[in-house]
Amino acid sequence: MKRKSQGRLLLLLLLAAAALLLYLRQDTPPDYQSDGLLRVCIDAGHGGDDPGAPDRDRTRFEKDDCLSMTLAVETALRASHPEIEVLLTRTEDTYLKLDERCDMANDWRADLFVSIHRNSAQSDAQGVEIWIPSGKPAADKRLAQAIFDGLKAVGVSKARGVKGGTAANPTSDYYVLGHTDMPSCLIELGFMTNAEDNALLDRHHNAYAQAIADAIADTLLAQ
Ligand SMILES: [Zn+2]
Repeated sequence: MKRKSQGRLLLLLLLAAAALLLYLRQDTPPDYQSDGLLRVCIDAGHGGDDPGAPDRDRTRFEKDDCLSMTLAVETALRASHPEIEVLLTRTEDTYLKLDERCDMANDWRADLFVSIHRNSAQSDAQGVEIWIPSGKPAADKRLAQAIFDGLKAVGVSKARGVKGGTAANPTSDYYVLGHTDMPSCLIELGFMTNAEDNALLDRHHNAYAQAIADAIADTLLAQ
């Protein structure tokens, strides 16, 4: 009798343990901030039928500069920081809607989202600026500031700073910053319309990519 009740107790304990395991696996949403994986989603702006801004001769287009820099950042991350998983919203000259870019990052549960763009202006404006959501959340600001400091250390024509909101409205957000669930920023990597910025981008291409990769890694590892 005693042995039989011990057996029943053991069976009950095993069943309880199995139920607990099942509960933990199925009913607890994965906590992407502490699941031990380090994930960054990098978004090359524009693409396909959307060329973005042209240079003054209309021979160079923002979409191509965004993609080549994004691919270079991915290469730098894979080489220097293999512990970080990288997802690119596009790897070719393809058109993607803004909500599709956000869905990719959110569904994949990225820890950080970095969108790469280039600026343009009628004036002779130049330099690098990085945008974060209008509320300037601390985590987004940390990410953007780390990237900004890295780019500045490589060399930019003008350090325009980390800014909240959009160029048109300080209380609104760029779509991809307002619709992604994780800390995010949008890099404006110099002006397409400024010859010095284009020359700097070409000369420092790999150094800029490495600076962005290192800043992403430092931010992820500090989280
Ligand atoms: Zn753009």
